[in-house]
Amino acid sequence: MASVLLIEDDQRIRQALATRLAERGHDVESTGTAMDGVQRAVSGDVDIVVLDLGLPDVDGADALQMIRAVSKVPVIVATARDDQEEIVTIFDAGADDYVIKPYSTDHLEARIRALLRRAARVDSPAVITIGDLRIDSEAHEATLGNEPLDLSAKEFELLAYLAERPGKMIGKRELLAAVWRQPYGGADKTVDVHLSWLRKKLGESAADPRYIHTRRGVGVKLVDPGS
Ligand code: CA
Repeated sequence: MASVLLIEDDQRIRQALATRLAERGHDVESTGTAMDGVQRAVSGDVDIVVLDLGLPDVDGADALQMIRAVSKVPVIVATARDDQEEIVTIFDAGADDYVIKPYSTDHLEARIRALLRRAARVDSPAVITIGDLRIDSEAHEATLGNEPLDLSAKEFELLAYLAERPGKMIGKRELLAAVWRQPYGGADKTVDVHLSWLRKKLGESAADPRYIHTRRGVGVKLVDPGS
């Protein structure tokens, strides 16, 4: 699940897209003007911005430069024309990716996922320590109180994904998308099973949680039990 900001002046497109992205578990906010969009984009509450280039108040490329002046939030530009020159201009202005209208929700969502994966890789350090838990993403090793944890590849990825976002409640949909590359859900049980294995290896249980805390219908978070 990502927090997506749509800046699009065509109300029909905006509402349809917002609805479809929300149906897929994203937290969507939207606006029809560049100025309002820039303000929201730089607020720090948004994971990704989808910016229409043709906006009524400010040119989309200028809006992009305003965002880039103060924020590194990933931006996907939506353009009506397959114009190479324009695409070069928007990359120069700081776009991370672009889609050409009309585009499908599937297509946009794939771009969103790819960008968020890239952003997560850039932001997270190779070694994360939470309490006695130490996760080394480069070596693909995790230890608990200096004892190596014998984790499967998916268990490790799940643990690393949670550890990169300590204290944040993360939905199963997001985990299915990020760890199992299954954005459209369906197999919540996959997450549950891996969480229970992971818990066992961390020496805890759902009834007596330490690091892994789940809330039914909401998600799961990893916390430092000592904090
Ligand atoms: Ca437009």
